[in-house]
Amino acid sequence: MDRQATVDLGTVTANVAALHGQLTGDGNREIQIMAVVKQDAYGHDAVMCARAALAGGATWLGVAHVAEALALRQAGIDAPVLCLMAVPGEAHEEAIRAGVDLTAGSVAQLATLVEAARRARRPARLQLKADTGLSRGGATRATWPDVLDAALAAKAQGLATITGLWSHFACADMPGHPSIGAQLDGFHEALAIADKAGVSPGIRHLANTAAALTVPESWFDLVRIGGAMYGLSTLPGGAPSWLRPAMTLRARLALVKRVPPGTGVSYGHHYVTGRETTLGLVPLGYADGVRRALAGHRLVSLHGKRWPIAGTVCMDQFVVDFGDEPVAPGDEVILFGPGDEGEPTAQEWGDALGTISYEIATSIGPEVPRTFPANDLGPSPQTGASYEWPAG
Ligand SMILES: *Cc1c(COP(=O)(O)O)cnc(C)c1O
Repeated sequence: MDRQATVDLGTVTANVAALHGQLTGDGNREIQIMAVVKQDAYGHDAVMCARAALAGGATWLGVAHVAEALALRQAGIDAPVLCLMAVPGEAHEEAIRAGVDLTAGSVAQLATLVEAARRARRPARLQLKADTGLSRGGATRATWPDVLDAALAAKAQGLATITGLWSHFACADMPGHPSIGAQLDGFHEALAIADKAGVSPGIRHLANTAAALTVPESWFDLVRIGGAMYGLSTLPGGAPSWLRPAMTLRARLALVKRVPPGTGVSYGHHYVTGRETTLGLVPLGYADGVRRALAGHRLVSLHGKRWPIAGTVCMDQFVVDFGDEPVAPGDEVILFGPGDEGEPTAQEWGDALGTISYEIATSIGPEVPRTFPANDLGPSPQTGASYEWPAG
């Protein structure tokens, strides 16, 4: 394989276990973890990461779309799964048959799910979502009572069970932002209204990774963590050091050449060599997630040192200037990883691009193979792969 994103599943398990330790650390009440594996586990592979997270103590899984939930079921994963988005036209009937929890944040969404339950001849497992300030999904303060009433009516008809009440932060990764306290208050109010309406809440949850790390009052019965399980965070400065990035993006040099001073490199000749130097060709490009805006950045690691992306990043490849470093075709470069060997992290890539590490991880294209080094859980059932490069 000349390029691969290796995902250390032992790291995913350890990150979840470490977080679980933090949540329940001083022997206080049990707080559950929902491992959010939407968008193929932020590009890390949903089924593999779901299993790794469950091994680390997660008890729930979270996805965006029904199809993602069904894929987990098809892989034989029977842990509780919550579909966080509510999108009309998705396979709700199948989801209900598969015992997937579905989110309703409006009377119309709830009606769609209840109709699907009627067809499935099974009650839908519903989690009701309050909009406490993100203004994305969920019921506003004004419509929340109507959603609760509609859910109670569906329950009375045997078409729904209410398994949870939840909401989502807008600014949890901006510590001290006034909206955090306001949303906490809003969620408490939503819970109180539900209680008064006679809804037994099931699990109550509000926190994402940033809130799990910084706002203990937001933990309620469960925290939903995506980034933290992959060793990523949207907090300033990234994840704390006790969380470890799970993904390493590597490639082998496809070609190495010595060129004279004044050589124009890649489309547009935006890079011209200042002296005789060694260029190496990396078989990853913007279609694989290496964005064109990274031209010029020293974000490629080889022999423990950083080297600059020379000239325009192409669709499938880019060039690196290695100066007088002895390099050969087939040598491994690391684009990002946990940072142990001086390589950049996804956080650094995000900083270079003015974005978050999540966008870096999810942008690695599907053509880049994900491989899973053997770990304490045993070799990966999918590939049995080791991350070692094949000999020769
Ligand atoms: C994606 C998502 C999460 C996970 O967020 P992280 O910052 O990755 O922990 C939690 N809740 C909802 C509703 C989400 O959409």
